[in-house]
Amino acid sequence: MCTRFSFLVFVALICAAVPVFGQGITTHKVAGNIYMLEGRGGNIGVSVGEDGVLVIDTQFDNMAGPIRDAIKELSSGEIRIIVNTHFHGDHTGGNKALGQEAPIIAHVNTRKRLLATGDESDQAFRNSLPWVTFDDDLSLHFNGEEIKIVHFPTGHTDTDCVLFFTESNVVHMGDHFFNGRFPFVDLASGGDVASYINNVQTIIDQLPSDVKIIPGHGALATLDDLKAFKEMIDETVAIIRKGIEAGKDEKQVQEAGLPDKYSDAGTGFINANRWISIVYQSYTR
Ligand SMILES: [Zn+2]
Repeated sequence: MCTRFSFLVFVALICAAVPVFGQGITTHKVAGNIYMLEGRGGNIGVSVGEDGVLVIDTQFDNMAGPIRDAIKELSSGEIRIIVNTHFHGDHTGGNKALGQEAPIIAHVNTRKRLLATGDESDQAFRNSLPWVTFDDDLSLHFNGEEIKIVHFPTGHTDTDCVLFFTESNVVHMGDHFFNGRFPFVDLASGGDVASYINNVQTIIDQLPSDVKIIPGHGALATLDDLKAFKEMIDETVAIIRKGIEAGKDEKQVQEAGLPDKYSDAGTGFINANRWISIVYQSYTR
């Protein structure tokens, strides 16, 4: 009986592992020579062309193989440049494997925060770190266009950047955009809800109406999707701040809840209670 139970658990674990070691990645064409790879962790942006391959974010360590395979389907060229939108592990976990192939570029704080997670005397760890860092912005000239990498301070974390593909009319937002969901704002790593809102509005104001947007998480998006995300944040933050002003504690605000129309936005890692907690703490600390 016991053996049989163990066997079933074993089979269940193997089955659960199949998507990770199988194809694992879904490729979406965005525009021109830009693609979005959806797997586990943050969405990956890829530019393929005459100059080779540019990769934005690397998901997890065990996704490096499936990422390489998905890129090979798009191009026979080599990975030349890797960019990290920010330091979180679901966007940088594949750095160790992929960083052996190409230099990694990121905001200076991404390097600082990643540096604190390992031993710099270890070559494999050094390969996983950004070799090139910048403070405010940086331009890449690759595959026939200028790609502007712009730091947006103290939003999701203090390490985030957004990439603007100026010819293809594509933007990779990193975790300044969770399409259709409440965002995670990492208050412990330099994030702030008010700054996050300002950053999203600043980006919206710069984008043409027909832009294609790769969100950090969720489906490939349009400007209308990004505006709906901003509206959802504005409305729910206003409700939570009203609760704070009325002298309610965090639990009371959670009990009062958020409008039903946003019930789908609070599934998974950031449910409605967690979002309320992040906003409450960001505006009361
Ligand atoms: Zn993140």
